[in-house]
Amino acid sequence: MSARRFNGWLRLALASLAFCALAGTVHAAGAVSDAGSFLAQTEGVRTTDHPRFLQMLSQLHDESSRLTPSQQWYLRYLDAWQTAFEGDGPRANVMLHDIINHSGDVTLKAKSMALLMHNLGLSSHYEEAFTLANQLASDLPMVTDKLARFIVLSNLSQLMVQAGQTDPAVKYARMMEDSLPPGESVCNPLSIEVSALFKSDRLNSSSPKLQEAIEACTTAGQPVFANTLMLIKSDIYLTEERPDKALALLNRVAPSINTNRYYSHMRGLQIQLAQTYEKLGDEVNARKAALAVLSMSGQDEVSEWVRNAYAVLYRVEKRRGNAAASLGYYERYVAQDKGYIDDITARSLAYAAVQQHMLAQRLEAEGLSKQNNILRLQQALDTKAMETSRLYIAMLILLMMSIVFWLFRIKRSQLRFKMLSHHDSLTGIYNHQHFVSEAERVLRLTERKSGAACLISIDLDHFKQINDTYGHAVGDLVLMHTVALCRRQLRPTDLFGRLGGEEFGILLPDCTREQGVAIADRIRAAIEATPVEGDGRLVTFSASIGLASTDSSGYELQLLRKEADAALYRAKRTGRNRVISGTEVHGHGMIRA
Ligand code: GH3
Ligand code: MG
Ligand code: MG
Repeated sequence: MSARRFNGWLRLALASLAFCALAGTVHAAGAVSDAGSFLAQTEGVRTTDHPRFLQMLSQLHDESSRLTPSQQWYLRYLDAWQTAFEGDGPRANVMLHDIINHSGDVTLKAKSMALLMHNLGLSSHYEEAFTLANQLASDLPMVTDKLARFIVLSNLSQLMVQAGQTDPAVKYARMMEDSLPPGESVCNPLSIEVSALFKSDRLNSSSPKLQEAIEACTTAGQPVFANTLMLIKSDIYLTEERPDKALALLNRVAPSINTNRYYSHMRGLQIQLAQTYEKLGDEVNARKAALAVLSMSGQDEVSEWVRNAYAVLYRVEKRRGNAAASLGYYERYVAQDKGYIDDITARSLAYAAVQQHMLAQRLEAEGLSKQNNILRLQQALDTKAMETSRLYIAMLILLMMSIVFWLFRIKRSQLRFKMLSHHDSLTGIYNHQHFVSEAERVLRLTERKSGAACLISIDLDHFKQINDTYGHAVGDLVLMHTVALCRRQLRPTDLFGRLGGEEFGILLPDCTREQGVAIADRIRAAIEATPVEGDGRLVTFSASIGLASTDSSGYELQLLRKEADAALYRAKRTGRNRVISGTEVHGHGMIRA
């Protein structure tokens, strides 16, 4: 079957479906008590009982002041529908645009867009119709009202049939079948699906889908749809070169078509009869039917019906040998054919143009989003890099801080260890070992400049007795007290160390024997004069001191100690609490416990 064999009645028959979509949900309506349901009822009867629809519409207008703003929009939609039904497409479209742009009602907007798209297709504004179709298809997920969805899908599917786009047409029709609103049968979607398959030559006279659709529409009491399908079937019989079958079917469907008086079906019936009779060789009836088509068509109408009617007429006249009549019909046929082909071309060009435009927009959007993604990634990378380097810096600073901290701690503990290893833990002065090494170092320096130095040996008198009398703790206090008293008499350059239990050594650099004896005696006197308070009692004690000088023993520590120890020994022996330098005796020699 070629596109040229495709009968024009199908197009208008399908167009009529937009107005029939809601047939079936009809309820008798009374007074406007509940405006919302009254509006829905009015919409429900618009195709099944059109006079009643008009009456209810005027009733609604009389009481329009009682309607809410959203109900007012609903009423305006019904007005637009009626305007389109009356054939005033341009005025209806203005009203529909207003509802689409200003009602703010998703359902009404969807229905209005569907009707607008249908009107644009009918008036050959294909590009606008297909643009709207794309918009409707993308808005579809937002349309939750079942009836509105059904109407949108129905109109989308029909427009796709018009555009020769079988696959989307079938897809939309199946979506309609999958979610039928209450009161709807599968007749409507099956009819559209069959129309799409028919248009793409995918049907034969025994296709199950065709049978299924005819049965569904007959059962549902939808004669208009059933007749559309019968006309499709007879057209297929003609294509299959079975004109007798076609004639039988056309005769069977004719009474119903003549009763319903649906304009496009009446023309469809006549054009098919003309073609069938022509094939059967019945030129009289063929001519009669073709002329009937012309009598039903407008003067300047360009359509497939008129074209096919002229085709039958010119062939019949040619066969009859009426050359002049044949040529006249042929010229009319050629003019019609050109118009019809132009219309088909316009439709497919418009469809292709809209698809190209959509594709371009999508590509642009994808391009933009890719660009944005790259920018976003770049920014994310920059931020990440900055964060990473910040982290590195923070970690480095932390690392450096902890290194400094540990170095500090290590140094401190080193110093502490050094201090502990050099000092006496009880009194804090040099311990024996450190005193010896320091004294040797200072003596070497003194020797180098040939200076004088004194070494003092101090031993507390009867210290054992203090321990025994007052306790070891008081003994310790006495030791610390002694150190404090000594320090007061010493210069910073003097070395002071604890040599044993209660024995102390002092090296006085840059100090003559006389100066040394004076210092030693001040120490002795201070010790004697300053008792310690221990255990609630005053503890008085004394010390014996021996002094050696470089002037007699030289700069050898060992020799100096020997001389000092010998002097100390003599101090003890000669009565304690005294200073002995070399062989001389200084001080009192008194002992007070
Ligand atoms: P002398 O007058 O002859 O020096 O008599 P002394 O009792 O002082 O002499 P001795 O050497 O017999 O006694 C020293 C005592 O010092 C013995 C010991 O118990 C005590 N001693 C040594 N080291 C410490 C110390 O760190 N603290 C205390 N409390 N006593 C100590
Ligand atoms: Mg001693
Ligand atoms: Mg002693």
